[in-house]
Amino acid sequence: MTGQDNRIDAIIVGAGFGGMYAIHRLRSMGLTVRGFEAAEDVGGTWWWNCYPGARCDVESLDYCYGFDEALLDEWHWSERFATQAEVLRYAMHVAERYRLRDHITFNARVDGCTWDEDAQAWTVSTELGETVRARFLIAATGCLSKPNRPDLHGLDDFAGDILFTQAWPREVFDLSGKRVGVIGTGSSGIQSIPVIAQKAAHLTVFQRTANFTLPAVNRPIFADYEAEIRADYLGHRREILQNKAATVKQTIAESAFDLSDDEREAAYEDKWQRGGAGGIPVLFADSLTSPASNEEAARFVRRKISEIVDDPEATESLTPRDHPIATKRICLDTDYYATFNRPNVTLVDLKKTPIERVSEGAVHTASADYPLDVIVFATGFDAMTGPLRAMNVRGADGMKIEQAWADGPRTFLGLMVAGFPNLFTITGPGSPSVMVNMIAAIEQHVNWIAALIDHMRETGKTRVEPQAAAQEAWVDEVRRVADATLFPLANSWYNGDNIAGKPRMFMAYVGGYPAYAERCEEVAGAGYAGLELSA
Ligand code: FAD
Ligand code: NAP
Repeated sequence: MTGQDNRIDAIIVGAGFGGMYAIHRLRSMGLTVRGFEAAEDVGGTWWWNCYPGARCDVESLDYCYGFDEALLDEWHWSERFATQAEVLRYAMHVAERYRLRDHITFNARVDGCTWDEDAQAWTVSTELGETVRARFLIAATGCLSKPNRPDLHGLDDFAGDILFTQAWPREVFDLSGKRVGVIGTGSSGIQSIPVIAQKAAHLTVFQRTANFTLPAVNRPIFADYEAEIRADYLGHRREILQNKAATVKQTIAESAFDLSDDEREAAYEDKWQRGGAGGIPVLFADSLTSPASNEEAARFVRRKISEIVDDPEATESLTPRDHPIATKRICLDTDYYATFNRPNVTLVDLKKTPIERVSEGAVHTASADYPLDVIVFATGFDAMTGPLRAMNVRGADGMKIEQAWADGPRTFLGLMVAGFPNLFTITGPGSPSVMVNMIAAIEQHVNWIAALIDHMRETGKTRVEPQAAAQEAWVDEVRRVADATLFPLANSWYNGDNIAGKPRMFMAYVGGYPAYAERCEEVAGAGYAGLELSA
């Protein structure tokens, strides 16, 4: 498919699980590809986020590729929720096994992508000064790869170390004996806080919003469970893809009120003790649609917090009351709430006393000074759209992607954008992405893109773009499905609320993996209905 002007078939930006599989899949179709990755190596999320306590929150046996049975068979996970280091080792094993690194330029951040209508090709440039042209551009840039780094007044004056969970130092960074402050209590803060507390002389946690977190109950994988899955791993993969979150189904009833009060309480308690992906809110199908059902789960967790945390003031600050449970991403932890009983841990409730400034040796709130040697930012990401905007993507007529998305991201199936021909977004906004087991979502996207490119090859087409009407219909569908849930009620990164000036819009498709995958198949089966294909 390579053209006369030496352009290649596809440029793939990002070498996380999305980019790696895209390179493998397109290469196995005989296409010429180039990958660009800002990091030094593969792994994406798992390369960058090497903070203490980082782990997956989908069970390891499911949080892996399913495209090759031999790969499934040969890789063994040691824990129910693998550590960052183990997931990264897996990514590196995949890169090695399929010789992916040969096709990737590392330490190469893409800073410009421009569609050339005459040449029907993308021109892509990197910060290293290289320019490459390709028929297709695949943005495997991740949903959670552009950090949100708050600009606190006086931060430049701080004389100690400033660390970010999303770019933790790769060499061992010893926190022993140090006075550490962690800002942020989302999944990254909640995973790292208990581990940092064990090392630091003193840990101060700066919490803006209390979050719901549930015990992960991490442990070695039960041998009999693993044996059962390994007896038919591909069958297990097919089975989990029938479930909304593309991982093991844990829903026990349609409604929380299908059970008596005692039965419901016992079910919550059992789930609390067993832990696992999604936790208590996944027990009942109506947890995220019925306020009353949601409140039952929230009430149970609030009671647990009050039972675990000793100090009444800390208990009150740690108790979430401003959003339905799981409408901000639910967190899984190990000993998070109990950490606040340690004598070397202080909780600062920023809702009561906001951070005013940082000085050479301390963080200052409205009511106190907190002397620190290290500040850790666990402040999240400019999620979903941030990485795409940062690439300076210009489509037909020079339109920038931020112009096209001025009122929030508009995509066809989260895979393509009207006005941006031959651009594919892996787990883009408008797809299940962050609501499901993401490696499963990535595989489904890459397979769909590969099949479309193959179809174009067979039919002699060189340009593909969604029709505006089809895209609008999908945007409406994504909104309709989200509006039927409680998700829009929370101030969350799902809605873009964490980034000043970002348009508010629920960015993921919450109808579940199976319904979404079926829709993608329907589009393909109907000869790619909704897409404009031309030569
Ligand atoms: P990423 O892994 O984010 O990779 C994108 C890559 O693109 C990055 O390496 C980045 O450097 C590169 N890139 C971006 N822009 C550019 C550019 N302009 N030029 C060059 N390179 C660029 N999901 C789950 O399903 N289960 C989990 O348990 C889970 N745990 C998570 C834990 C953490 C700490 C975080 C942050 C996310 C977690 N996620 C989890 C979501 C996770 O991001 C996905 O599961 C998955 O790893 C995403 O893979 P990806 O390839 O799409 O994106
Ligand atoms: P996050 O969920 O967005 O949490 C960021 C935290 O920082 C929030 O508590 C936020 O408070 C706070 N914050 C942001 N700006 C602040 C400021 N200026 N001052 C004070 N506090 C501020 O980010 P994250 O924890 O990195 O997680 C992001 C996503 O990555 C997760 O939701 C999940 O999808 C994924 N992840 C998964 C795991 C896992 O368990 N496997 C681990 C880490 C990350 P507000 O809530 O008030 O905005």
